[in-house]
Amino acid sequence: MDPILDGLNHAQCQAVTSSGSVIQVLAPPGSGKTKTLTARVAYLLTHHGYQPQDVICCTFTIKASREMRERLAKSIGEKLESRLILGTFHSICRRYLVKYGYLIGLRKGFGIADSDDSRAIIRRTIKRLKSGIEVKAAQGRISRHKAHGLSPDALAERAKALAEKAKAAEQELLDIYREYESALAASNLLDYDDLLLRCADLLRQHPQCVSNVQAVLVDEFQDTNIIQYELMNLFAARHRRITIVGDPDQSIYGFRSAEIQNLNRMQQRYSNTTVVLLEDNYRSAGSILKAAQDVIEQDESRPAKALQATHTFGTMPVLRRLPNPSAEAHWIVLEIKRCAAMTGGLLRMSDFAILLRSASLSTQIEKAFGRAGIPYRMVGGRKFFDRTEVKILLNYMRVVSHTGHSDALVNIVNVPPRRIGDETIKQLTGGAEKAKVPLWNFIKDVIQGRRSTEKKLQKPAEQGLCVLVNLIEAARQKLEECEDASAPRVLIEFIAERLSFQEYLIRTYPLDEDSRWANVKELMHQATDVAAFEEAEVDKETDLPEIEGVEQQQAHPGEEALTRFLANVALATEITTKEEEQEGDQPTEKVTISTIHAAKGLEWPVVFVPAVYDGSIPHSRAEVIEEERRLLYVAMTRAQALLYLSVPIRQPRLGEGEDGATTLSPFLPPKLTKSRFRPTGPSLDEKVVYAIADILHRPRPSLEDMYKGLESLPSTLDDRWTPEGEEDGEEDGEEDRSRPLGILIFRDTSGE
Ligand code: ATP
Ligand code: MG
Repeated sequence: MDPILDGLNHAQCQAVTSSGSVIQVLAPPGSGKTKTLTARVAYLLTHHGYQPQDVICCTFTIKASREMRERLAKSIGEKLESRLILGTFHSICRRYLVKYGYLIGLRKGFGIADSDDSRAIIRRTIKRLKSGIEVKAAQGRISRHKAHGLSPDALAERAKALAEKAKAAEQELLDIYREYESALAASNLLDYDDLLLRCADLLRQHPQCVSNVQAVLVDEFQDTNIIQYELMNLFAARHRRITIVGDPDQSIYGFRSAEIQNLNRMQQRYSNTTVVLLEDNYRSAGSILKAAQDVIEQDESRPAKALQATHTFGTMPVLRRLPNPSAEAHWIVLEIKRCAAMTGGLLRMSDFAILLRSASLSTQIEKAFGRAGIPYRMVGGRKFFDRTEVKILLNYMRVVSHTGHSDALVNIVNVPPRRIGDETIKQLTGGAEKAKVPLWNFIKDVIQGRRSTEKKLQKPAEQGLCVLVNLIEAARQKLEECEDASAPRVLIEFIAERLSFQEYLIRTYPLDEDSRWANVKELMHQATDVAAFEEAEVDKETDLPEIEGVEQQQAHPGEEALTRFLANVALATEITTKEEEQEGDQPTEKVTISTIHAAKGLEWPVVFVPAVYDGSIPHSRAEVIEEERRLLYVAMTRAQALLYLSVPIRQPRLGEGEDGATTLSPFLPPKLTKSRFRPTGPSLDEKVVYAIADILHRPRPSLEDMYKGLESLPSTLDDRWTPEGEEDGEEDGEEDRSRPLGILIFRDTSGE
C-alpha cells in the first residue's frame, strides 16, 4: 500500500487520491481534515509529479503551518518539504510582494505596520481631525472595509447613496481612513490587510507571477475572508486545481470579516466541485464529543450532521464552580499536578492546555502557575516582543531597516534619554507632518539647517538629535557591509553596544536589569538562530521559484535578512522565552495558555476552559451569539482525553471594586449543569488511565508508577483549596471540601 495513504480511512483516502480538480472536504472537528490535506499535498507531489515550489498551501495559523511542515518532512522528506510555498496567507503574500511588488509600484523595502503601529497612526489622525470616533472602533471599521476590498474611494462612492445622517457618520470615518492610508504610504508601510490586498492587486494585474502554480490547498477554509478567498482563486487561476478543508461549525472569525458563504461561492464558481464528507472523530473521547455535540446542536439553524466517535470510552467533562478567579486558577494548578502525578508519567506538562475566551483572563492563571512553578507558554499574546527592552531594540532595527518608519522613530528619539524633550518631539512630528516628509528626513534637514521647527530647538536637544542620526547612519552602514543572514544579529549587537544598552538597563531598572538583559540576549539569540526563531511560531519562509519572463526584485542579502526578521516579528503570534527554558539542555515541557481563537485546529490530551459564564462566553460585547457558541464548541473539541470547564462564582466587575455574581454560560448543556455529582476532577483510576493511554496511542503506565504519583500528592482536599496568602471568596455550599484525596474517592462519572 502507498505509505502516504497508510492510516487513512476510506473517505480520507478518497479525498486524498481524488482525480477531481476542485475538492471540498467538509467535516467536523477531529475527523482528520488537516491530516487529509497534508496527505493530499504529499500525494500530489509523488503521484501527479508536481514540483513542491509549484504548490501553494495556506494554513490559518503559524503553528498549523509548522505542524504541517513537520508532518510533510516525515512523509516526503525535508528536501521536498522545504521548497513548498506553505504558510499563512499573510506570510505567503508578503513573499510575493517582496519579489514582485515593484510591478504594482510598491517601493522596495516596505515595512509592516503591526496593529500597534496602525492604532498609533489612527489615534494621531483622530486627534488632528478632532473626531469623536473611538480609536479601536475606527481601527476595526477600517480593517473591515479593507477586508472587503473597499478603498477610501470605493467607500466614498458607496456613501453617496446613503441618507444624510448616515453619510455624515461615514464621512467622518472616511476622512480618518484616507489619512491613515496616506500616512502608511508616506512611510512605505503595509498593514496586515494591505499584505493581502496588494498581493491580490499584484496577481490580478500580473497573473504570470503565479503561472507556475499547479495546485492550491487551504486549511480552515470556513474562516477565510473575501480577500483570502479571492487570493485563493488568483493563486489557482491557471490550472484551477483547489482543495479546501473546513467546517462551518467552527467558523469563529466572523468578527474579522470571515465569510462562511465562501463555501457556496466556491461551489458556484467551480461547478466541478467534489464534496467529500468525513464522519469519524479520531481525536476525542466519546463523552467529550457528546458534550460538545450537545453544545453545537443548540443552534437550530444548523443542518444536522453525522459524527461518530472512534474512542467510545471516556470520562464526562468536568464542570466546576469555584469561589473566584484566583481559586479557579489554583484549582487548575492542582488538577494539572494531580493528573500528571496520578497517571504515572503518562501525561507531561505539554499535554495540558488552558483555553481562554479572551487573553486578559490569563492574569490569574499566570500568577498561579508562577507561584506553583509550572512552566507555561502563552499563545495568542505577543508577550516577548512587547517587553519594553525588546521593543526598544526592535524599534531601532525597524528604523535602520526602513527610515520611513516614523512611529518606530518617535519611540526611540529619546530612548535612552538624550535630552530631547516631549515638546521638541512634538515640534518635530508636527513639522514633518506639515512638510509632508517622513520624520527621519525632517530631523536630518533640521540638524543640517535646511529646515527649521516652529520654535527654535535648544542646543542640547539638537545635539541629542545629532547623536541619534549618527547612530542610525552608522548602523545602516554596518548593515550594508553585512552580506549575509547574520545581519539581524550583527545589528542588534552593534546598536546595543553603541547605546551602552546594558548600562542603560542597569540605571533605569535596578531591580530587574538581569532579566531584562536576559531578554536582550534572547532577542540576539533569536536573530541568529533560525531554529530558535522558528520556535517562536514564525513562518518558515522558502524562496519563491524563479519564473521565466518575470524578473524578481533582488535585495541586498543582509537587508533582506533584516526585513524578513522584522516581518516575522510583526506576524509572530507566540514566543517562547529562553528564561523559562534554562534548566538543562532539554526544552522544558510547558503547559499551553492560549486564546480559543489561536487554538483552532490544534489538540491536547487535557484541556481546561475557565470562565464559562455569561458575559465571558458569550462575551458581553459579542455581536453574533452563534459565533460565541461555536467558540465554546471549538474549545471543547480540542480535548482528547480530559476536559474541564470551570466558572468562578464571583467575578470582579470591570472598573468597579465590587465583585459580581456570575451565571453559567447558557451554552452549557443541561446534562453538565444539572449533574448531581460535582467531582473536583475525574476519577483517575487505572481503568481511566489506561483508556487515556489508548486514546493517545501511548504505552500504559505501570500500576507502580501510578501509586508512586499518588503518594507524592497532598493528602487532603483542603490543601488543594486555599492558595497561600489568599482568602477564598464565597463558598459554594454544595461543594464537599473535606474529602481526602485519592484514587478511590473520585467517583467515576463515565457514562453518566
Ligand atoms: P479540526 O477541525 O479541529 O482542525 P481536523 O479535522 O483537522 O480537526 P486533524 O487534526 O487532522 O482533524 O486530526 C485529528 C486527530 O485525529 C489527529 O491526531 C490525527 O492524527 C487523528 N486522525 C485523523 N485521521 C485518522 C485516522 N484515519 N486514523 C487515526 N487517527 C486519525
Ligand atoms: Mg484541522
